[in-house]
Amino acid sequence: MSNYCPLCQSHNIFDFHKDNQRKYLRCNNCYLVFVSKEFHLSKEEEKKRYDLHENYHNDPGYRQFLSRIFEPMNSRIKPKSFGLDFGSGPGPTLSLMFEEAGHKMNLYDIYYSVDKSVFEKQYDFITASEVVEHLKEPFEVLEKLWVCLKPEGFLGIMTKMVLDQQAFSKWHYITDMTHISFFSVETFEWIGEHINSKLEFVDKDVVIFKK
Ligand SMILES: [Zn+2]
Repeated sequence: MSNYCPLCQSHNIFDFHKDNQRKYLRCNNCYLVFVSKEFHLSKEEEKKRYDLHENYHNDPGYRQFLSRIFEPMNSRIKPKSFGLDFGSGPGPTLSLMFEEAGHKMNLYDIYYSVDKSVFEKQYDFITASEVVEHLKEPFEVLEKLWVCLKPEGFLGIMTKMVLDQQAFSKWHYITDMTHISFFSVETFEWIGEHINSKLEFVDKDVVIFKK
């Protein structure tokens, strides 16, 4: 049983929801909702599920979906910027969209693009699309990305956000066993304060931090 929040480390956590598969806790300090460790999948199980994700870079529907993070990021960064797509997945697509727009991209993915040297570089922008909901240690990861961002750089995150307990209990998003960290507006505001960054909610599930 997890007795502290994986984002802010607070012990001020309580039972938020329970379904027939898992138990969900919520932190009273940063409002992260998270699945306790005993329900986390093994790496093998997790990868098996990701291998099933059929996101293809020539699928217009998928590109349309990604445009909700691509467009607001692309409008903020300078021409020919250098970016990192963190959690690029089995069929990198967002990075292709940035490359087509004239930017240079590096990729990182825990299963599909494991070159850790990407964290030794400094980027004008970093994207994490449909990634943070999979993180066991969200703060550690976000901090690592923040360090790789140049001053004035942008970090764009896309994840579906928690509204309230009622909506959460009926939410399709939580039936995916690889989803273990659920963020809300308040959670991102806590992160912004903590890393001393301005943030902008540019879509219902997209937030952009500026360093
Ligand atoms: Zn917390």
